[in-house]
Amino acid sequence: MAAGTNIFEDKHTNNWFKACIALNFTKEGLTDFVLTELHNVQTLVGRSCGQCFIQNPIPCPTQDVCKKRKRNNCSFHNSLQPTSCQTCHKVKQNITLLHRFNGPSWANTKAERWAMDPWEIGKCYLPRDGYSSVSSVQESDFNGVVSIVLNCTHFQTCISAACLSPPPPDKQCPLENVRQIGRDVRHTADCKVTDADLQYFFLTLTTLLADPVHLLHDPLTTKARRKLSDLQNDRLSLVDLGKMLKEANKTLTHAKEAGERFSEEAERTLKEGLNTLEAKIQAGENALKTKHKLVNNELKTRHILVNNALKTRQRLENNALKTRHIVENRALKTRHRLGNNALKTRHRLEIKALKTRHRLENKALKKKHRLENKALKTRHRLENKALQTKHRLENNTLETRHRLGNRALKTRHRLENK
Ligand SMILES: [Zn+2]
Ligand SMILES: [Zn+2]
Repeated sequence: MAAGTNIFEDKHTNNWFKACIALNFTKEGLTDFVLTELHNVQTLVGRSCGQCFIQNPIPCPTQDVCKKRKRNNCSFHNSLQPTSCQTCHKVKQNITLLHRFNGPSWANTKAERWAMDPWEIGKCYLPRDGYSSVSSVQESDFNGVVSIVLNCTHFQTCISAACLSPPPPDKQCPLENVRQIGRDVRHTADCKVTDADLQYFFLTLTTLLADPVHLLHDPLTTKARRKLSDLQNDRLSLVDLGKMLKEANKTLTHAKEAGERFSEEAERTLKEGLNTLEAKIQAGENALKTKHKLVNNELKTRHILVNNALKTRQRLENNALKTRHIVENRALKTRHRLGNNALKTRHRLEIKALKTRHRLENKALKKKHRLENKALKTRHRLENKALQTKHRLENNTLETRHRLGNRALKTRHRLENK
């Protein structure tokens, strides 16, 4: 959602607000580059022992570090005294050699983390005040990031010579000019920037971010250049603006910690901008919610319609299926009934035929038996008759023989008696 960057009614106040945001875009664009190069610085200065705290390699007194209130009572070396660790002494020497003005901000850094966190080495090149609690390059502000590039001479090898010519702290140094933009914006008395100044700011910052040695091809820097262009042409989203405004507030907080003059006007204007922007974001969110609600309702209505259509189709399909089943069942039953009737008729006919056959067979059998019985009886009668005739003849023969025997016997007896 692109939105005009016209948070303030006054054009010049709006310009100042844009300048605040442009500084933060620039800082964001430089973070990867600075962190990468701080890794290289970490290698250059050598590995610390990891045991020493910053109070150990710093002799007492050291100018700008030790603060002696009374004799032998240094607030920096209050709890820890200098020691003679050669490893850390050497690292400390190397950090100092890479400092353009030979004055690292020792109070900012945690020497026990030098070997594991390049940011702790980077902090030596930050301004003295206001950065001891900043724990990463991302957390640092525009002034901090530009200060590291200006103060650490290693960065001479990573940006074009033109950026550092004439060398800092010459007011003509382009990188000093970049840092000065930050100061001008923070220290403003009236929170107003002319159109010409704003154009100069955009041009200077964009030129730095397009430095040909490394920055031109750094993805984060490329993104920052695009965002600067969007800001300049009023193409930024409200969400981006909100994020930027919070960053601007953080810058303000840091500036106060560092004891910098950050005008009441600047503070008041930033707060006002934040409120206006929040109201705008809120309005935008409400509009978005309303749109979502409308889209949701439309979606729900469509779902309901689609569901109803689907249900109707399913109901019709179910009915069609049921009807088909009923018809099929009916046809099947009819077929079975017809089949059964035919079967029954066949059985009945078969049984009838069977019964007829049985009856005929029985009848034939009985007749046969009757004839057989009759024949048997006739045979028996004939056999009995023949037998009786035979017996009678045999009896007659026997009687005849007996009579003849007796006659012969009597004849013999008579003859014998004579
Ligand atoms: Zn050590
Ligand atoms: Zn001391």
